[in-house]
Amino acid sequence: MQVPAQFDYEVAASVEEAIELLRRHGPEARILAGGHSLIPMMKLRLAFPEVLIDIHELDGELRYVREDDGVLRVGALARHRDLLESPVVQGRYTLLADAEKFIADPLVRNMGTVGGSFAHADPSEDLPAAFVALGAEVVVRGPGGERTIAVEDLALGPFETALDPDEILTEARVPRAPQGSSYFKVERRAGDYASAALGVALWMSGDEIEDARVGMCGVGSTTLRAKEAEEVLKGQEPDEGLYKRAAEKAAQECDPPDDARGTPEYKRDLVRVLVVRAMEQAVGRARGAEDRTADGR
Ligand code: FAD
Repeated sequence: MQVPAQFDYEVAASVEEAIELLRRHGPEARILAGGHSLIPMMKLRLAFPEVLIDIHELDGELRYVREDDGVLRVGALARHRDLLESPVVQGRYTLLADAEKFIADPLVRNMGTVGGSFAHADPSEDLPAAFVALGAEVVVRGPGGERTIAVEDLALGPFETALDPDEILTEARVPRAPQGSSYFKVERRAGDYASAALGVALWMSGDEIEDARVGMCGVGSTTLRAKEAEEVLKGQEPDEGLYKRAAEKAAQECDPPDDARGTPEYKRDLVRVLVVRAMEQAVGRARGAEDRTADGR
């Protein structure tokens, strides 16, 4: 294979300019955000962009975490650390803070961006699973204007998204805060990608689960939503038996790869355990008390 020895480098001064540069340079151009996925891919000769379009100067436009009229808005250049440290996230979108504690290490969390986590479309990436559980969508902008894509529809396959080559992801939006949420992950060692990980978010009506969503990663060729597990939970009062029935559905809904992180059956077993743990914690949080804490990190 012919591997290009060099690439061109451009710095965008605005989102509009980034889009214009993508349009001008065509499909071989790539956005460079935190660089913590793209640069390792280039070093490993797994990605060969001809042009890098650096958007690090767009912090003013794209780096924010805020809640407007009950909608959580996270700019594409928000760093992992921004989510982890956001009081809004810690207060009402707790599973995002849970997930962030499991992502890599402080160096990566200082540089890696939310937009990059979505656009990279690694099936083991944590944030897309957490945002799927929250029912989030992403906003993308291109020469034709702006559109939204549900996070669960963003990844078309491993490292492949529904973004057009001249589109840039600008924001993730969560339309409504859950009453309780939780994210658990099993990793081979601290900072590793998930052997299996999942988030749950619950919207309660009194003692009943009015709505529930489950997002999973590391157990399929894309981020997954466990729709059948959600159906088991909806309209029910929480108890251990219910969690186990939902966990069994989620285990059946995933399709884990057989790789260095374990066999498919091992990962399905992890999903069974993690759904129960996440449900216990999310329900505890919805009731204003913590039943369990993530493993202290
Ligand atoms: P970049 O590397 O800059 O870009 C990644 C891809 O997204 C590129 O294709 C780029 O063109 C595209 N892109 C970036 N931003 C945009 C945008 N706004 N619009 C359109 N396309 C865009 N992640 C986890 O979830 N869990 C982990 O446990 C974990 N562990 C890690 C451990 C290490 C050692 C490292 C280096 C990374 C790890 N990561 C992990 C990945 C980390 O979260 C990355 O930072 C993140 O996936 C990508 O963000 P970035 O800003 O660095 O993206």
